[in-house]
Amino acid sequence: MRLLFFALLLPTLLVAADRPNIVFIFSDDHAVEAISAYSGGRLNHTPNIDRLAKEGMVFENSFCANSICGPSRACILTGKHSHVNGFLSNEKARFDGSQETFPKLLQKSGYQTALFGKWHLVSDPTGFDAWEVLPGQGSYYNPDFLQMDGKRKRRPGYCSDIITDLSLDWLKERDDDKPFLLMCQHKAPHRNWSPPARHLTKFDEGDLPLPSTLFDDYANRAGLLKEHEMGIDEHMYWGHDMKFHGKNQFPGAFSSGIPNGEYRRMTDAQKRLWDAAYEPKNQAFIDKMKAGQLSKEEVVKWKYQRYIKDYLRTVQAMDDGIGRLLDHLDATGLSENTIVIYSSDQGFYLGEHGWYDKRWMFEESFKMPFLIRWPGEVAAGQKSRALIQNIDYAPTFLQIAGVEVPEAIQGESFLPVLKNKGYAPQNWRESIYYAYYGERTHHVAAHDGARTIRHKLMHFPRTKEWQLFDLVEDPQEMQSLHKSSEHAEVLGDMKSHYEKMRRQYGVNSAAIPVSRLTEGWWQKRQQEKDRETSKGPADLLFLGDSITQGWEGPGYETWQKYYGSRNAINLGFSGDRTEHLHWRLEKGNFKGIAAPKVAVIMIGTNNTGHLQQSAAETAAGVGEVVAKVRERFPKIKVLLLGVFPRGAQPSDPMRMLNKAINERIAALAEDDQVEYLNLDQSFLDEKGMASKEIMPDLLHLSPQGYDIWAKAIEPKLIKLGLPAL
Ligand code: CA
Repeated sequence: MRLLFFALLLPTLLVAADRPNIVFIFSDDHAVEAISAYSGGRLNHTPNIDRLAKEGMVFENSFCANSICGPSRACILTGKHSHVNGFLSNEKARFDGSQETFPKLLQKSGYQTALFGKWHLVSDPTGFDAWEVLPGQGSYYNPDFLQMDGKRKRRPGYCSDIITDLSLDWLKERDDDKPFLLMCQHKAPHRNWSPPARHLTKFDEGDLPLPSTLFDDYANRAGLLKEHEMGIDEHMYWGHDMKFHGKNQFPGAFSSGIPNGEYRRMTDAQKRLWDAAYEPKNQAFIDKMKAGQLSKEEVVKWKYQRYIKDYLRTVQAMDDGIGRLLDHLDATGLSENTIVIYSSDQGFYLGEHGWYDKRWMFEESFKMPFLIRWPGEVAAGQKSRALIQNIDYAPTFLQIAGVEVPEAIQGESFLPVLKNKGYAPQNWRESIYYAYYGERTHHVAAHDGARTIRHKLMHFPRTKEWQLFDLVEDPQEMQSLHKSSEHAEVLGDMKSHYEKMRRQYGVNSAAIPVSRLTEGWWQKRQQEKDRETSKGPADLLFLGDSITQGWEGPGYETWQKYYGSRNAINLGFSGDRTEHLHWRLEKGNFKGIAAPKVAVIMIGTNNTGHLQQSAAETAAGVGEVVAKVRERFPKIKVLLLGVFPRGAQPSDPMRMLNKAINERIAALAEDDQVEYLNLDQSFLDEKGMASKEIMPDLLHLSPQGYDIWAKAIEPKLIKLGLPAL
């Protein structure tokens, strides 16, 4: 055993000395528009990030797989899309640190690995010899850091400076004999954009240019865009974002609610400098407002200036730190054999479309900066237009380090692009896949899509809308062309890219948990059900969609008769598909339920009705639901019902789809914990025809239908251990 171990290890150790070091400098929410190497300096200058551009390569078509903090980081670490690495959104998520990551593989191959700064994946970092990370979002002023021993340490000073110092200290103390990976991960320029003392008045001398789409009315695109809660006009907090003290004086113009938590963390000396910078400007604004001198539009412009200047001030401080880090690498001679990368977890809206924040698949947040310096390997001053994505970082780093790239990684190494002056090799990907899974925060609807060098396709499953943009003709994405007959062929091509990638990456939306929290009534029903389930014992659960929810409507009398006294809970949510029930089982409304005896599950007809999903996909989604129920309540018995028939006759295409789902899910009754039952014969006549007496709209049940349902399952419920009526 020992011999074998050495035999495997020896070749790696031999080449270890030649393997390049990797310094991965990474920030949070940094849009390319705020990096002068990309923008030409329209807004600001980032001289130190620009050093990487001058001495290395800039990627102009670098994108994320899911434009939000935690998910992007999980994609980078694993080289896999969100639905595979499991970190789909920031909402109640926790990174499974037991999975394979590129730092772990580098560490195993002999690299020293270290991580300092923002982590944001809830579980402790794994795969690092040294780490010190901010808890959650962390703070700009006098931040706390989580230590490897589980303790917290408050460090005086400014966050970006401290993260740079921690990185430098580690570089100085590390073992010189081994190659290293250093991940220096900044909080900046994340909300609430609190600048350090030295840059508090930078940009004070005048106004910065407004983005041309600041007053976007979202015409000619999906109606869902208007539902956002990330507008500079309406969703900036008086204290937290706009840096005013005290109570919101103009509730019509500012969101109140959250004060500036950073201010509370400051020392008196820090507060004095802060107030000296902000208070005169704040007072001037308040005076003008009180005098009625500012129109609604002027207020939005003022808020934009406050926002963009603070954002850029935090960028400046981070850029200072990057300069110190690069200086150290130069001074110690490390630069020669060290790859330095600058990237950010996603981009950000700097007022484009009237927004701050990220999430949407529009360019400003979809795009990630990616600059790389690698002396001797990457020629200086190069620009690449190759399509790369954050899932590509892991395989690229591994290949650079001479470590075999695991099969399970979904990204592609772009080492060939680096070695080929930025040109993509002939067989390089033509499109990339994107998916955002929705969160309550900021109300951005779930969507996914595909992007090629020229076009972008977006899909919103909630409304089944497509969006198509020509990024050459319409770089600001103001006009969707999905209905344009001239673009029918492009639309078709983009849809085939989209479908091809979904197959390639194993995207089955029926089996990926997704919330509907952006829909108010759904969120409200969650809360109501939370209250209901926390009240007392629940022996019998009904899980499903509107047909199950209908026990509260046409099925009410039957429910009372059969289940009114049996501690039963109706967890049917109208319009839910398998993926929504899956989400509810993971993160939703099962609060307080201790040990239910039986769950009746009937789900899948909306996968058929809304999306005409294949039976195999929907059945896999039902399988996930059953697995989740069993995981959640290990002793529960499951009565899995075949998806009810729909449509008038057996030849109805939707009926046939449901039938095909049922043929597959019957196999889920694999042990005595799950019983499968198909009620088709109870609802249909001998020829398989549906009647309007039982199914008035040929989908939902009448009171008579609910009576049939209850009678048909009663013997099974008793068999599965529910006390008899
Ligand atoms: Ca972020």
